[in-house]
Amino acid sequence: MIRDHFRVLVVDLSTGRGSIVNIEGRDSVVGGSGLAVHLFMKYGKPDRPWNDPGQPLIFAIGPLTGYFPLMSKTVCAFKSPYHDQYAESHGGGRSALSLRFADLDALVVTGKAARPSCIAIGSRHLEVKEVHYLWGRDLYTTGKMLRGMFKGAGHRSILRIGPAGENGSAFACINVDSYRHFGRLGGGAVMGCKNLKGIVINGDGSFALDGSREYPKLFQDVHTKLTDTDMMSKYHDIGTPINMAMLNEVKMLPIRNLQRTTDPGISGITGEKFAELALLRNAACAGCPVGCIHIGFVRERFRKEHRFLYRQVSYDHEPIFAVGAMLSVENCFAVLGIIDVAEKVGLDVMSAGVALAWATEATEKGILSEKETIVRLTFGDSDAYKQAIQHLGEGTNEFYRLLGQGTLKAAEQYGGKDFACVLGQEMAGYATGEVFFASQALGLRHSHLDSGGYSYDQKEKGKDPAKAVDFLVKDEQGRVLLTSMVACLFARGVYSDALLADCLRSVGYGKLADSLGTVSENIQQLRWRARIATGYKPEEVEIPKRFLEITTGKGAMDATYLASLKDQYAKAIRGLAATGAEGHPAGTQGK
Ligand code: SF4
Repeated sequence: MIRDHFRVLVVDLSTGRGSIVNIEGRDSVVGGSGLAVHLFMKYGKPDRPWNDPGQPLIFAIGPLTGYFPLMSKTVCAFKSPYHDQYAESHGGGRSALSLRFADLDALVVTGKAARPSCIAIGSRHLEVKEVHYLWGRDLYTTGKMLRGMFKGAGHRSILRIGPAGENGSAFACINVDSYRHFGRLGGGAVMGCKNLKGIVINGDGSFALDGSREYPKLFQDVHTKLTDTDMMSKYHDIGTPINMAMLNEVKMLPIRNLQRTTDPGISGITGEKFAELALLRNAACAGCPVGCIHIGFVRERFRKEHRFLYRQVSYDHEPIFAVGAMLSVENCFAVLGIIDVAEKVGLDVMSAGVALAWATEATEKGILSEKETIVRLTFGDSDAYKQAIQHLGEGTNEFYRLLGQGTLKAAEQYGGKDFACVLGQEMAGYATGEVFFASQALGLRHSHLDSGGYSYDQKEKGKDPAKAVDFLVKDEQGRVLLTSMVACLFARGVYSDALLADCLRSVGYGKLADSLGTVSENIQQLRWRARIATGYKPEEVEIPKRFLEITTGKGAMDATYLASLKDQYAKAIRGLAATGAEGHPAGTQGK
């Protein structure tokens, strides 16, 4: 199993054929984020648009997947419909372990199928199957039908899209095994433009555990560290929604399209309230003893008056913030009802919620009316939001199709840019201050997980832009190493560089273990080069006025500080992209 090269399955949907390609570079790009960008450099077409059939859709895992707990993410890379530049999105579920047991380090999908299709792969098979009857079906029906069509248990993972992906929405997600997602930056639309409705990965192979004598003990130590710390209570018990009450308390929760940062009404949608009223059970990605996935339920009247349908819906801090706090929907079942509709149509809940928060304020200000939104949007009206989400996913009219390309694109046409809550993409659920705003606005994935800007805002007192930018760059480098290993970032407190090196050594990656510092630097630079090569201009990123109008527990926003952070971070990004441009290895084709 330990290989110096990567074993990659490349599938061309135009021909329906695939081949195994051996790619060099394990010791310089590791896997996950590093492998994904390495493959994009090889197969991607930086100058051509995101929906060019030749563009690759990449899924990559890491060297420790299957060996250690929480090495459970898959990195998905593509040219994004949101900004037509290089993008990464991370998802879990069973995807990573299924790829491992299919004996693959990565899957690359190129071309476009002539008719709606799905791909089924395993350790010894590849099938491209026409599924025109699934086109237009929602995510739930698609999942049910794919599970019936492709039998398999254990390490089987199903990736699928809904109508939003078929319609080319830049908010379209790729759903993974029902409760996880490649959520952001429109990966679902990339599948849609390839006529690809689903991917079934059957981890039907097996491999001998060829680790060292130290491996079993090390595994036990890591497992104990992950389950004996406060991680379990933090992520398992109440889960990430614990942030709702905490951020509300310190006036750092984006509420009502970021018109407020605290509100007593939030008491109806705190993590504690969800756990008390709506939590059905916990679930976990394959290979994870923590189990942070919280699954609640929605109940619908079914045909006769006293019969009900129950559906299970997963929730986290981010979806609750986006369709709860941002829309002033203050009841946990109403929030789950909106998430349920977004899931069905295959939309990223965060982007959809933040976009509708803008549309609601635009309606209040008279910029929009039902002529555009079809249904009257009013803060707190969850029934209206369920209908609006359906329209957004289905692209019912010109307004919803444009909004589905990004809030700023809609604001350019209709007005209201000042109060669009966009930081590179629709904002994440933290109104902590200037450092977070600069970090999400300029960060590679425009994700709150690119670096810990939100925690810097809360912990640091001074306003030194150089110090803050230095933190963002170094923190990003550490996270890039973890996402190249495909570690869940919730385990970042456990997987130190030293522990990662021990883990790598114990399964035979000694050379890689000795060079993690230079390797993570290399990957960080490589990713920025890919982003810049596809057209990114960090110095041109704008942060809407709304972000300067708020007051947090730390006080009012400082426009000069934010401008300086933006300026210095953009320069740092340019510097990273310009460094070591010769450093990435060339791929070589094998059998
Ligand atoms: S902590 Fe949660 S997201 Fe991370 S691997 Fe475990 S179940 Fe998946």
